[in-house]
Amino acid sequence: MDISIVIPLYNEDESLPHLASWIDRVMIQNNFSYEVIMVDDGSKDSSWKVIENLHNSNPAYKGVKFRRNYGKSAALNVGFAHAQGDVVITMDADLQDSPDEIPELYSMITSQGFDLVSGWKKKRYDSKLAKNIPSKFFNWTTRLMSGIRLHDFNCGLKAYRLDVVKSIEVYGEMHRFIPVIAKWAGFSNIGEKVVHHRKREFGVTKFGISRFVNGYLDLISIMFMSRFGKQPMHFFGFVGSCSFLMGFGALLVVCILRLLGRISLTNSVWFYMSMLFVVIGAMLFLAGFLGELICRNSPTRNSYLIEKDLQ
Ligand code: UDP
Ligand code: MG
Repeated sequence: MDISIVIPLYNEDESLPHLASWIDRVMIQNNFSYEVIMVDDGSKDSSWKVIENLHNSNPAYKGVKFRRNYGKSAALNVGFAHAQGDVVITMDADLQDSPDEIPELYSMITSQGFDLVSGWKKKRYDSKLAKNIPSKFFNWTTRLMSGIRLHDFNCGLKAYRLDVVKSIEVYGEMHRFIPVIAKWAGFSNIGEKVVHHRKREFGVTKFGISRFVNGYLDLISIMFMSRFGKQPMHFFGFVGSCSFLMGFGALLVVCILRLLGRISLTNSVWFYMSMLFVVIGAMLFLAGFLGELICRNSPTRNSYLIEKDLQ
């Protein structure tokens, strides 16, 4: 099969029939063999009914329904697990992403050798204050921290080689960082394509301004996990040792000054500061040690992604 299209959706019943007929048109024009995996993230409207109807009239349409709303990342993760096509395309259900981009994305993966191609909504049809401006800032920091030169990390329209989606796990709110997760998993050939973006015609946006706060926390945890996730001691041990040594050195000086009768310990701010550094250092060191013990017992401590294996 050429293409699997994975569509996470939450309360999008009005958009779905339009989206499906548009996808069909593009797939037939380009002679692709395809499947469409619609993951209903616990919709409360009649989205699931629409998916059942689509499935009954065309078996290329498949559906998974969550019992409740788990979020876009969870929906993508389940879609990825079901996908079988050589190229996997993800897109939003709200008609903001255009299926006309699919043939070009497909060829960038199959003939230009990209592992992942991310859409770039260069001209964006969303509210300026709530989305466009914060999102520029968000993309800038993510670019800086991850070293991946993309303009629009969070674009719903993306294309992947099948390998990639089978090797990564998307959870929590991590759908904003799939390129970062993919790079971390060893897929560094990441491309970008300017895509056509449209106004939302039906329904309302599902993400408020809170996504930026959560987004930054997720970015920090993802960067931290990729650098130190398997060796917590490298971070905590280093910072802890520095703090301990600085504190200990200062403490020695303070004690010598006290012996020479220059200062009184209870009145000296330096005494308390050096004690604080010693204690914080010891605690950080202990945190690193506990982290190492947890890693040692983790079931994934020896799981690696193997690219090739000659036997
Ligand atoms: N979505 C989802 N689960 C959620 C929230 C959103 O599956 O909990 C889907 C939603 O139906 C849409 C896509 O994720 O297909 C992007 O959501 P939305 O269009 O609201 O985001 P925006 O374009 O406003 O950033
Ligand atoms: Mg949208």
